[in-house]
Amino acid sequence: MADAAGTAVLAATAGISDPSAAVVQSINDTHQRYAAERDKRLRSDGVAQYIDVAHSDRLRHYQDDPWVDHTALNAQEPPLKDGSQTKILILGAGYAGLLMAVRLLDAGIKASDIRIADSAGGFGGTWYWNRYPGLMCDIESYIYMPLLEELGYMPKHKYSFGPELRAHAERIADHYGLREKAAFRMEVKSMDWLDAEKLWSVEMNQNRGPSEDVARVTVRAQFVISATGVLNYPTIPKLEGLDLYTGHAFHTSRWDYDYTGGSPDEASLSKLATKRVGIIGTGATAAQCVPHLANCSKELYVFQRTPISVDSRDNVSTDPSQWATKIAASSGWQAERRWNFFRILANTAPRPALDMVDDGWSRSPSISALYGAPGKGVLAKPEDVAAHVAGLHALDLVRQERIRRRADEMVDDKATAEKLKAWYPSWCKRPGFHDDYLSTFNRKNVTLVDTDGKGVERMTEKGIIANGTEYELDCLILSTGFRSPFLGTAARAGMTVQGCNGRSLDDKWSQGVATLHGVCSHDFPNFFWPGPSQAALDGNYTHTADHLARHVAYIVTTALGRGSDDVVVEPTADAEEAWSMQVLARAAGFAAQAGCTPSILNGEGAIDRLTGDEEKMKAARGATWGDGFESYANTISDWRIQGEMEGLVLS
Ligand code: NDP
Repeated sequence: MADAAGTAVLAATAGISDPSAAVVQSINDTHQRYAAERDKRLRSDGVAQYIDVAHSDRLRHYQDDPWVDHTALNAQEPPLKDGSQTKILILGAGYAGLLMAVRLLDAGIKASDIRIADSAGGFGGTWYWNRYPGLMCDIESYIYMPLLEELGYMPKHKYSFGPELRAHAERIADHYGLREKAAFRMEVKSMDWLDAEKLWSVEMNQNRGPSEDVARVTVRAQFVISATGVLNYPTIPKLEGLDLYTGHAFHTSRWDYDYTGGSPDEASLSKLATKRVGIIGTGATAAQCVPHLANCSKELYVFQRTPISVDSRDNVSTDPSQWATKIAASSGWQAERRWNFFRILANTAPRPALDMVDDGWSRSPSISALYGAPGKGVLAKPEDVAAHVAGLHALDLVRQERIRRRADEMVDDKATAEKLKAWYPSWCKRPGFHDDYLSTFNRKNVTLVDTDGKGVERMTEKGIIANGTEYELDCLILSTGFRSPFLGTAARAGMTVQGCNGRSLDDKWSQGVATLHGVCSHDFPNFFWPGPSQAALDGNYTHTADHLARHVAYIVTTALGRGSDDVVVEPTADAEEAWSMQVLARAAGFAAQAGCTPSILNGEGAIDRLTGDEEKMKAARGATWGDGFESYANTISDWRIQGEMEGLVLS
C-alpha cells in the first residue's frame, strides 16, 4: 500500500516530520500485514459465495416474517386492491419511504394521493425486520431519528435501541396520517410503464398468511418512488452440508424468540441456558447480539472469518434538561447537528470548532474515505489523489492502532486478543461500537473460533466444521448479512422494471449507471428513488434520505404544478450523461477504497477484480458523489433554486 514516498507522506500527515527508520518500518509492516490479510480473504466467487434465500425454494423460510399479525391485517380494509389506481406509490415503509411521503405532503400532495407498499408486516424497514437482542442504532439517535423536531420527540438514549426506533416509524406514520395508506406484506414483482395510459402497472404478491393463498395484486400508479432500502433480504453462505444439519437455525434478521426465550424488549433468552449455540459472522450485527448470547447460552461458539474493529459505545440516557437547553434548544437544531456531524466525520476544512455529537464516529475522520474526498472537488492530478489517500491512511493508522490496543486492554487471553484485532483500514468494513463485545471473550462459556480468513468449512448433521474440528450445536445463528447493495435499484428490491418500449432498467444500467442527480433515469418516466448510485452518502443515512426525499418531492410537485394532471417527467439522455460525467470526474475521491479487504461495502472485492478501462469506467459511473454529501446537497439545491427543472422534460 505504501512505497517509500508514500510512507514519507503518511508520516508527515501523521505529524511526524522526520520519521525515524523505526517509524517508517512500523508503517510499512502494518500495510504489509493489511495486504497479507486481504489476500487471505480474496475469493474468485465474490458475492456468489452467498445464497440469497429469497431465490431458493429450499431456504426461503429463512426470510419468513416472524412478527406479522396476519389475522389483524386480513381484517383491515386494504389500501391497495387488485385493480386500484393511485397518484403516488411509494415502495418501502421504512424511514426512507416515510420521509418520501412526509416531504411530498409538505410540498402540497394530499395524503389521499399516496399509497405505500412494503413486504414487511408493518412500518420500520430495517427496524421492522431486525429485532435481535441488543439491537441499537450506532449513529446518535438525535441526528439519526427523522423528524424529531417536527414531532417534538426526545429519544430515550444517545443511541436508541431497536424497539424505540421501530416505534418511531409508527409515530411518524400516525402523525402524518399515513397508517391507513400503507399496504403490508406486498412483494413487488414487476413494474411496467404503460405508454398509452401514462401510468406504471405494478404487480405485487400479497402474502396473506398460512391460511390463505398468496394474492396477486396489480395496481396502476402515475408516480412510483422506490425506497426499499438495502438490508431487507438475508443472505447465508453457500456451505456444503447445509441440508444435513438437523439442529435449529435462523438468521439474525428473523430472530426466533420462541426458541431462545425473551423478546425484542427483554433480552433474557432464558431457553438458551441449556443450549450449545453457534453464531457465524462477526459484523456490526454480531457485535451487538454476541454479548447477550454469551450471557444466556450454556456454551457459545463465535465463528469468525474477519474480526470487526470495535470502539467504545458510551451510551447514556438523554438528560431532559440538557435536551431542552443544549441539544434541542433552538429551531433548526436537528439540521444543524446533522451538518455538524457530517462536517466533522467528513474531515472538511475548516473543521467546525464544536463537535456536537462527539463520539467514536466523529473522532474517526479517516472513515470519511467511505464518502469520497469531501470538500476537495475534482481530484484531477494523480499526485492529488495520492496525497489524499496517504492522508487518510495516516489518520487511520492512529485510529486502528488505538482500536487494536483496546483488544489487548479488554481481553485477558493474549492469543484471543490477537485474533480479535482488525488488520485493515477502518473504512474497509463497517466499524463496530460496543462496550461489552470484546470482554465477552473472557467468559468461560464463550469460544472464539477464528478461521484465519477462511470461514467455516461445512455443516454436518450435528453442527459445523471449522479449522478441521467439528463443533456440535443445538442452535446455529446466521449473522451473515444481506443482499448486496451493489445490485441495481430494481435487482436489489427483487423486481423487474420495464420502462418505455419495454426497456429494462437493469439492462440499461448493465451498460453503466445513468441518472439525473441519482434519483431518476431516462426512459423510466415518473419513477424515482433515493440514490445511492450517482447521489451521495453521509455516515448518517437518514440525513441523506431526507435531502433526497425533499428533492424528489420538489421534482414531482413542480412537474404537477407546471404540467397537466397526468404529467410525465423524465430526464433527457443528454442531461443524465452530463450528470454521469460529473460523478465520474469525482470518482477518484474514493481511491482509498482500492485494495480493501473484501466486504459488503466493495461487493466482496468486486471493485478490485475489474479489468480493463471500460469496466472500471462503468463501475466509476455508479459511484456516489466523490466530493461528499454537502457538495452534492448544494449542487441539487442550486438546481432547485434556479427553478428551470434543467435536464428534465415534461410531457
Ligand atoms: P455483514 O455483512 O456486515 O457481516 C456478515 C458477517 O458474516 C461477516 O463477519 C462475514 O465475514 C461473516 N461471514 C460470511 N460468510 C462467512 C463464512 N463462510 N464463515 C464465517 N463467517 C462468514 O452483516 P451484518 O448483519 O453484521 O451487518 C450488515 C449491515 O447492517 C452493516 O453493514 C450495517 O450497515 C448494518 N448495521 C447497522 C447497525 C447500526 O447500528 N446502524 C447495526 C448492525 C448492522 P467477513 O467479514 O470475513 O466477510
